Amino acid sequence: METTIAAISTAQASAGISVIRISGDEAITIADRVFRGNNNKKLCEMKGYTCALGGAYADGEKLDECIATVFREPHSYTGENVVEFSCHGGVYVTARVLRAIYDAGAQPAQAGEFTKRAFLNGKLDLIEAEAVMDIISSRSKAGVRAALNIKDGALSKKINNSKDILLNKAAHLNAWADYPEEDIPEVESDELLSALSEVRSDLSRLIDSYDDGRILRDGIDTVIAGKPNVGKSTLMNLLAGYDKSIVTSVAGTTRDIVEESVSLGDIVLNLSDTAGIRETGDEIEQIGVDKAKKRLNSASLLLCVFDASSELTDEDLEIIDMVGDIPSIAVINKCDLTKQPDDSKIKEAFGEVIYMSAKNGDGADKLIETVKRICAVGNINSADALIYNERQRSLTKKTMDSVDEAIEALHIGMTFDAVTVSIEEAVAYLCELTGERVTDEVVDKVFHTFCVGK
Ligand code: GDP
Repeated sequence: METTIAAISTAQASAGISVIRISGDEAITIADRVFRGNNNKKLCEMKGYTCALGGAYADGEKLDECIATVFREPHSYTGENVVEFSCHGGVYVTARVLRAIYDAGAQPAQAGEFTKRAFLNGKLDLIEAEAVMDIISSRSKAGVRAALNIKDGALSKKINNSKDILLNKAAHLNAWADYPEEDIPEVESDELLSALSEVRSDLSRLIDSYDDGRILRDGIDTVIAGKPNVGKSTLMNLLAGYDKSIVTSVAGTTRDIVEESVSLGDIVLNLSDTAGIRETGDEIEQIGVDKAKKRLNSASLLLCVFDASSELTDEDLEIIDMVGDIPSIAVINKCDLTKQPDDSKIKEAFGEVIYMSAKNGDGADKLIETVKRICAVGNINSADALIYNERQRSLTKKTMDSVDEAIEALHIGMTFDAVTVSIEEAVAYLCELTGERVTDEVVDKVFHTFCVGK
């Protein structure tokens, strides 16, 4: 890696401190051109894992006071020489120090380039590198826990275990086929079959974990549906304010879909408050109603809201009919008002019925508890190795298909050559998964999603 790169690794906003990271062969030399230690000590004289207080200078002018931390290769995040400047966290001052570092010889780092170098230098495999980004973007406690666990190698260990078993079998099959005159023990079909079956069930368990991984990573797509005025927006606002942890907020018009991601501790709900579903002659409202129906069909969870203060209407019944087999909770709202309608039809249609008042918050805890139970959040063990993204799922599935072909070939009595081909194919997919054998294109695609400075 001939170039030395630099970027601001903290957020581009005013803060207590900002960290500028420099990585590459020349990192310490370049940093020395900008940094003057208070005790006149040069960074090139310092050991790894040590730091010095001083100033960053350009053309003899002091730009900021900062602390420089020195990491010596290979004991750094990237595996290269690294210097990190901790400056005062002003947007202007940090950018000014970074410019001085560029002027002293560093190149601007591309998105994800530090982590990419860590991968290329063998500090982490591709799965662990992906987990770095997932730690940063996690919006729930359990999500961070799962991503950290993957970063620490939980998933890689499982993948490598399957790979080792397959590699051993492929090596034995090849040796046995290529050197018949050598004293190599015969390949036993039963033993081979049992090893392949073991790998297959491990892979299948991993593929099954993808849904859990997705819930932790992306949250649960939850649609709030109901006829107009039952209290959908009030419920949305109540949930958004719960735990005071709104993550994002994208608002359309009242006739469109309003979306908000809400963190409920262990889990994130991606809430969509849809237009009240009803027959309407208003063309624009009809577009909202159609969108609402579409969104309803793609939801992972439905909160169907009814008004406790009035009788069920045909519009309510139409919504009940639409639910189908989407996991749903009936929310009978406005229970603070006196009139309670006949709820037998609702109880018939929904496995879960919550009585609440979105206006004063009564029943909200029960609703959240039920959401977590229905989505089986409590059953997800974030300490397990979870498949966490589509790349991982698709390669694990391809591996399993190849293992299935090997098992099938054994069953129908094909030659060991055919079995070997399928096993080797499975190994190739696993190597792509961990990044041991992967094209530059795939590597670029993975790191493309990263931010600059990571
Ligand atoms: P939406 O059209 O379904 O989104 O309904 P809104 O959330 O806009 O609420 C319609 C009306 O019902 C508003 O006046 C709310 O203040 C009121 N409302 C919503 N939830 C409750 C509740 O739990 N109790 C009472 N008494 N009024 C509520």
